[in-house]
Amino acid sequence: MNINELRSMVEGSLLENEPMSKHTSYGIGGPASAYITPKDQDDLCRILKFAVKHNITVYFIGSGSNLLVSDDGINGIVISPAKSLKKLEIEENSIVAESGVMLGKLVKESMKRNLTGLESLIGVPGTLGGALVMNAGAFGGEISNYLISVDVMTSKGKLKSYKATDIDFSYRFSSFSTDEFILLGRFELKFEDPNIISERRKIASSGRKTNQPLRFRSAGSVFKNPKDHAAGYLIDKVGLKGKRIGDAEISTHHANFFINHGNASASDITELIRLARTAVLEKFDIELELEIKTIGFEQDKVVAHG
Ligand SMILES: Cc1cc2nc3c(=O)[nH]c(=O)nc-3n(C[C@H](O)[C@H](O)[C@H](O)COP(=O)(O)OP(=O)(O)OC[C@H]3O[C@@H](n4cnc5c(N)ncnc54)[C@H](O)[C@@H]3O)c2cc1C
Repeated sequence: MNINELRSMVEGSLLENEPMSKHTSYGIGGPASAYITPKDQDDLCRILKFAVKHNITVYFIGSGSNLLVSDDGINGIVISPAKSLKKLEIEENSIVAESGVMLGKLVKESMKRNLTGLESLIGVPGTLGGALVMNAGAFGGEISNYLISVDVMTSKGKLKSYKATDIDFSYRFSSFSTDEFILLGRFELKFEDPNIISERRKIASSGRKTNQPLRFRSAGSVFKNPKDHAAGYLIDKVGLKGKRIGDAEISTHHANFFINHGNASASDITELIRLARTAVLEKFDIELELEIKTIGFEQDKVVAHG
């Protein structure tokens, strides 16, 4: 990749050989060839066209709170809206939010206006873009519940809009194409008695504090919960709670959270993933499916058993 040519074109910021450990909640991940925060949509469009023309692989991320990046890093461009595309407009009960808006900000601003629908997501880290892709959810609410439409930019730099009903959403799943960058989402919430909203927020907030090891670096739940059991319960039952490899540990507090005590590597985490998947398959005949997203791995290194 001709990094100087790319640099001369980017109006936002471009960091070369940028350690992804600085951009993931795990604090793990080798360098990306270029880590770019586009200034605006036009900047993004030019960057994407450049990448197509020069056959460069592009990865979209938000704030990296659901990501495991390999120790070898990323051969390509990483683009995040987290520091620039942060416009948030709320009129009556209608919200238009760019993908770089932090979910927490969106939740708080809507609560301030006595709007209900998002308060159960209080405390879920990350950007709106990441929340839409993951269909982030907590305590009975999901980000897609009050979604009206989403604007994206295709990998070729074209603008496109989807109605919420064009996209399939289910538990920690959306059908957005991985080569489309989410630009913004539109929502319509409902007005509600502020005491009721506040009560729902409190339940979500205290539930999170009780159940999650929030003092440590993690990426939230590593696996999706299978149909009849919580993944954390299954991992606990195979005796892996507290299992440690290097500085990575299966949390003693919540066995579906794998935590980084300081210097864990991506391979420490993938080793724990392998151990958990193998043991749960052997004992319960259940295949645990990753909830976290992975970048920079040969796929079978992360998902294989044994
Ligand atoms: C302590 C902790 C608690 C958590 N609790 C919860 C919880 O209760 N519920 C829950 O659902 N999740 C939870 N998570 C996981 C995480 O917060 C969510 O998945 C969050 O929505 C991810 O947002 P992000 O911006 O960090 O996305 P990232 O992790 O950066 O990316 C996630 C996915 O979205 C894609 N993506 C991100 N932005 C864009 C964009 N603009 N365009 C296209 N693709 C994009 C990425 O390619 C990736 O596939 C938790 C995480 C932590 C660390």
